[in-house]
Amino acid sequence: METDKKTNAEFGAILNRLKWYLTDLHMTGITDWPLKPRQHSTPIAVETADDSERADPEQTLVAIRNDMGDCTRCRLHLSRTTIVYGDGSPQARLVFVGEGPGFDEDQQGRPFVGRAGKLLDKMIKALRLRREAVYICNVVKCRPPDNRTPLQDEAQTCSQFLFRQLEAISPRVICALGACAAQTLLATTKSISSLRGKNHSWRGMPLICTFHPAYLLRNASQKASAWQDLLLIHGILTGHQEGN
Ligand code: SF4
Repeated sequence: METDKKTNAEFGAILNRLKWYLTDLHMTGITDWPLKPRQHSTPIAVETADDSERADPEQTLVAIRNDMGDCTRCRLHLSRTTIVYGDGSPQARLVFVGEGPGFDEDQQGRPFVGRAGKLLDKMIKALRLRREAVYICNVVKCRPPDNRTPLQDEAQTCSQFLFRQLEAISPRVICALGACAAQTLLATTKSISSLRGKNHSWRGMPLICTFHPAYLLRNASQKASAWQDLLLIHGILTGHQEGN
């Protein structure tokens, strides 16, 4: 009996180690399992059938950026070097929304270009997509001092631009990265742990919340949960799962 217990414990430990190993493989861009169903070996399409029926998303995004101008609508303009508006495909079927620019983003004017950006690139690759095929932006477009979380009034003021970006692109699915993005889009104060792993909806578009890549860099044990969230996104993009 004692031997059986020991064997079960050892078996459980091996399974656990295997789970983390596979999760890390996916996060490093090795996607042969399980996101390689043979019947879906072609890349996920970027265009949608009704693209021609709505306003040109590219022009709308340019118009929103022009409206933003050299924005001073909130105090974050005081600490920025560059406005980080967002980049990627205006026809994207998947939009990632982060919190706000960090040091590297503020310097370069592009979202997610630092260490967290490298991990996001791997997450995108795990979804069998190219970075150029998705759109990436943040709740606030200017770097908060010392990378602090945006204050509620800052997020509220700047999110008018985010909401217009999302409506212009009208993606198949939105992925909120971290608590700030999830709480802003869902108008809630619930924790990211309670919001992730479920299907939500933002103005009729499916919304999946997951951990911010910067958090995952500090808490590798949460990668398995993030991987489950990516599977939800993949299911919506491939039509295997309906969003809300
Ligand atoms: S964070 Fe947004 S609202 Fe605030 S100054 Fe920058 S662009 Fe304007």
